Amino acid sequence: MRLTKLVLSSLIIVLFSCKTTNIQTPEKSEVSKKLKTPKNVILLIGDGTGLTQISSAFYFKEAIPNYARFKHIGLINTSSSREDITDSAAGATAFASGVKTYNGAIGVADDSTEVATIVEIVSPKNIKTGVISTSSIVHATPASFYAHVLNRGLYEEIAADMTVSDIDFFAGGGTKFFNKRKDGIDLFKDLKAKEFLIDTTKLGDFNSIKSYSKAGYLFGYNHMPPTAKGRGDYLPRATELGIQFLNKDNSNFFLMVEGSQIDWGGHANDSDYLVSELIDFDNTIGKALDFAERDGNTLVIVTADHETGGFTLASTTKKNSEGKEYSDYAEITGTFSTGGHSATLIPVFAYGPGAEEFIGVYQNNDIFHKILEVTGWKKQL
Ligand code: MG
Ligand code: ZN
Repeated sequence: MRLTKLVLSSLIIVLFSCKTTNIQTPEKSEVSKKLKTPKNVILLIGDGTGLTQISSAFYFKEAIPNYARFKHIGLINTSSSREDITDSAAGATAFASGVKTYNGAIGVADDSTEVATIVEIVSPKNIKTGVISTSSIVHATPASFYAHVLNRGLYEEIAADMTVSDIDFFAGGGTKFFNKRKDGIDLFKDLKAKEFLIDTTKLGDFNSIKSYSKAGYLFGYNHMPPTAKGRGDYLPRATELGIQFLNKDNSNFFLMVEGSQIDWGGHANDSDYLVSELIDFDNTIGKALDFAERDGNTLVIVTADHETGGFTLASTTKKNSEGKEYSDYAEITGTFSTGGHSATLIPVFAYGPGAEEFIGVYQNNDIFHKILEVTGWKKQL
């Protein structure tokens, strides 16, 4: 048995070496280079999702987690320009614009000057763009991809930035920032004037919306409810619809999808909330990967802005018959060390052409530079 294996592996080595020698011709290496350039990028951000949050899917999800489908994995340091521990605004600005900035900053550098977002960089190249969240669409993570404000709390200004951005598809919460504003302006009118389909009732099906050039879905006055309290499978469905819409007529696209509320489960130190949001996010990753597998030209990147809660999958503490405490290794209890964010390194998972570039240990803002590099979007500036 052992010998057979040895013979087989030697054969494989020989075959592999032959193959390697054969593909060294100029034309063929040119072809393989071409195949490594993704046309589409889907960036999935699990807000507040560290390794323990991800691990929870491996214990609490009934099916095998979609996180297990990746082979290219890296780690990022998420510190912001001024703080060891980032917030979501600085974290998302690092991904969207490639700069480390101060906590609270949306689309501006540490010196408060505006920085170009990936949406602004690729839209003139006729690449379609979209943002999807379960928070309000003007919340820090999605906002960093289309807005420029000095402080993340300026929600109405962020909403106004959406009307002048090049975003082609959005879905999330927060109608009040668009049509119940202090200045009385109805931004839905402005969006419709830009040929947006605006729907605040339900996600459409692709056939009913494909004739529109742009589509925006806003559900709820502010944030959407948790998945377990009425949101259901909105996030995976919105992601599927967003991909179909942005990819129609064979367009190339950049899509950011955020699992916003994993972070809120962490802040609330509520394991059930956190884990249900994480599983919903994992289902969403599955939709992105299914498309990327079929398409073959799509790079999927899954990461997080930071970890929240100092979450731990600890053993359950129990008492034996004599009243003495012991750790039951057969049962997991989620525990927390903080109500805020933590500084732990964050995993990056990549799939598709260019995925190998995301292996290694690097900084959060390198994600932006790597995306522009592997897609060639940078060169066409
Ligand atoms: Mg967020
Ligand atoms: Zn947070």
